[in-house]
Amino acid sequence: MPGVRTVEQSGAAPANPASGQSVVLLAPFDGWAAPLSEVPDPVFAERMMGDGVAIDPLGSVLTAPCDGEIILLHAALHAVTLRAGNGAEILMHIGLDTVALGGRGFTAHVAQGQKVKAGDKLISFDLDQLAQSARSLVTPILVTNGDGFVVEGRKENVRIGRGQELMTVRHVSSAPLAAAGTGREIRRELVVPLAHGIHARPAARLAGLAKNFTAEVAILSGEMRANARSPVALMKLGLTKGARVTILATGPDAEQAAAALADLIESGMGEETAAPAAPTIQAPLRDGALAGVRAAPGIALGVAVRLMPPEICVEEQGQGVAHEARCLSAALAVVKTNLEAAAGKNATLAAILDAHLGILDDPELAAEAEARIGQGKSAGHAWRSAIQNQVAVLKALKDPRLAERAADLIDLERQVLSALGGAEAVAMALPPNAILLAQDILPSQLAGIDASRLAGLAMAEGGPTSHAAILAASMNIPALVACGPALLDIPDGAMIVLDADHGRLIVDPPQLVREDIERAIANRREARRAAQANAQALCHTKDGVRIEICANLGSVEDAVTAVAAGAEGCGLLRTEFLFLDRQSAPSETEQADVYRAIAEALAGRPLIVRTLDIGGDKPAAYLPFPPEENPALGLRGVRVSLWRPDLLATQLRAILRGIPATQCRIMVPMIASLDELRQVRRILDDARAELGIADPVPLGVMIETPAAAITADILAAEADFFSIGTNDLTQYSLAMDRGNARLAAQFDALHPAVLRLIAATAKGADQHGRRTGVCGGLGSDVAAAPILIGLGVRSLSGTASQIAELKSVIANLTLEQCRRLADKALAATSARQVRELNPGD
Ligand code: PEP
Ligand code: MG
Repeated sequence: MPGVRTVEQSGAAPANPASGQSVVLLAPFDGWAAPLSEVPDPVFAERMMGDGVAIDPLGSVLTAPCDGEIILLHAALHAVTLRAGNGAEILMHIGLDTVALGGRGFTAHVAQGQKVKAGDKLISFDLDQLAQSARSLVTPILVTNGDGFVVEGRKENVRIGRGQELMTVRHVSSAPLAAAGTGREIRRELVVPLAHGIHARPAARLAGLAKNFTAEVAILSGEMRANARSPVALMKLGLTKGARVTILATGPDAEQAAAALADLIESGMGEETAAPAAPTIQAPLRDGALAGVRAAPGIALGVAVRLMPPEICVEEQGQGVAHEARCLSAALAVVKTNLEAAAGKNATLAAILDAHLGILDDPELAAEAEARIGQGKSAGHAWRSAIQNQVAVLKALKDPRLAERAADLIDLERQVLSALGGAEAVAMALPPNAILLAQDILPSQLAGIDASRLAGLAMAEGGPTSHAAILAASMNIPALVACGPALLDIPDGAMIVLDADHGRLIVDPPQLVREDIERAIANRREARRAAQANAQALCHTKDGVRIEICANLGSVEDAVTAVAAGAEGCGLLRTEFLFLDRQSAPSETEQADVYRAIAEALAGRPLIVRTLDIGGDKPAAYLPFPPEENPALGLRGVRVSLWRPDLLATQLRAILRGIPATQCRIMVPMIASLDELRQVRRILDDARAELGIADPVPLGVMIETPAAAITADILAAEADFFSIGTNDLTQYSLAMDRGNARLAAQFDALHPAVLRLIAATAKGADQHGRRTGVCGGLGSDVAAAPILIGLGVRSLSGTASQIAELKSVIANLTLEQCRRLADKALAATSARQVRELNPGD
């Protein structure tokens, strides 16, 4: 698995601890015991990591609070986790922010995996040095796998001596540990590749996926741990791009659960790769214009409309626990129905509202609200407090992009409070060409607006990656954020120029400026219209060589987006993505229905379907695999299909039933030899015969292994076409894991070695009159397109958003120019040198 290491810890968990088994924890040093809530760090104070007690130390040696095994000794030696006999995992974290000391002042007396007895020395520390360099010496001692344990009899607000009883940890629920009764605990380590980290949408998708498994799944980051079924807990981890995390799954389907979650994170979840700069509130410009941060591009001229939603007041005291609980659950149901109904408007909105639905279902949020209702509070007060607690945590995170996600929670706070008050959602009436001014626009407010009347958006606060900003961009509405409080002083009805591209907002612009802006808006509209018109045309080079520009798809929605963006067909349908979350293999009819829907969305355009590309590094929950030492080199792609020919035959029949033969092409991933292709063709021929399909259906080969590229002339004798998977071809030719963040800078498919393999592929294909395409990442790389064409590639398939640009670049190049460039690229010594080449040279 790219960037992922799987460690199976058979027998690491204690064998089936009986429910009710208690372990007494002894104070690990002399000190003053205090409630966790007094620890000046929300991670501990709000029990995000678990329940327990804190001790302000007077001693300088941390000793074992009970018998057990050291399961984690932090590299900076400031924290240690011990597993007690009843399975409780006890973290002792010496001081706050002490990880930053990098081990200075700490001495470990134990090693990971070591068994210890109560009172054994674990870590010594230099109390004076810590007192000077750490934010606080207070040491939280808590149970990190708290789901199945309760903490009882804790000593708090007392002086305590080392070895005295501090608290008792009792095992109450057999669920998580009974699940672990198989003795299996799967850990997968990986690096978060998402540009904006694990924010609301990815968190909701991960939580949704985790709910499909029986295994308990947690995501660990440093010393923090989040229940993977809770989107809010996942967000609170504050995971940003590049963060190292561990997925920890325990239970019968732990392996599949860990693999599925790791795979989803590693897939990047369709997030952009470049993160925009975080905003700071902009000072007014010298010419009196207001400055803001671009959240969605474009220019607008229109009238100011201020959005000032009224404060929603709630009673603090409830009218009985049962009544308030009923009110809350009814309000949540109303909001869910509203969200589901609104999601139909556009794909971006659907993804955002899906995340909101995930938050509404969040078990931790619900538990917090229920607990407050249980204390006699009203449903509204309980919901508001639960949300505001999480908002405070998100806002306190160091990453402003994650802090922006607080707006999603506030949005849900308002919606649920409105529903509790019986308020109907009323769409805001806007004049034509309205420029909406607000403190911070919430996604639901934007979703409820008549977009045809909205010319622009400006927010006093907010961030460029907020959901409102993403929605505005998807609706083609220019938007500015972080304009500062002066924005809200602009009177309703004032004429405004909103120039998002230059980050400025001008109130009452002079006539000349107004005319300039009107001209600029008209020119842009025309340029966009022309680009859109050309995007739908077939692609040719300047001298008339036909180059097919297609899109890679993973769903019906992708197909709709791709056609609108000008895709001439689908160059790669990743069928494994269609059924990723399934617990059982999809039936032939289910598959046929999805393939048919995609073929129909493509309206007759060619559709290349790739047979299942699952295997060690792309697991499918419904097809468990025997563990492999090296999954990237194990059972994957066509090897899985030939290992389970029944699944392949079902899939081929479904493809043939769902897609008209004239539109259908089939291709096989990870081919390394002709024999594999022959076996697949035999199964395909049988399927055609069974279904009485006389028309030939082209069967192509994905060139992803150096073996296939080098023997392309042999494969081309029997393959109907080639499609180069540059992601895997690069991985296998450079011997670099495609998901390894540390190698990312060197992992470039324009490496001359990869280009030589591509040249060999196209040459081999030519000898038999076969067409060569590229469907890996290089297929949507505008800089690579001329080189690929020069090497003999005639079809490119990739991201829909790149189609218009690819077509316009190719239309301005001749084949001769491309060939000259390709020759230079083949002779280059590095990918960097290739990237410096210019088609005009
Ligand atoms: C590739 O390897 O380039 C490819 C297109 O396949 P995937 O990325 O799905 O492995
Ligand atoms: Mg591949």
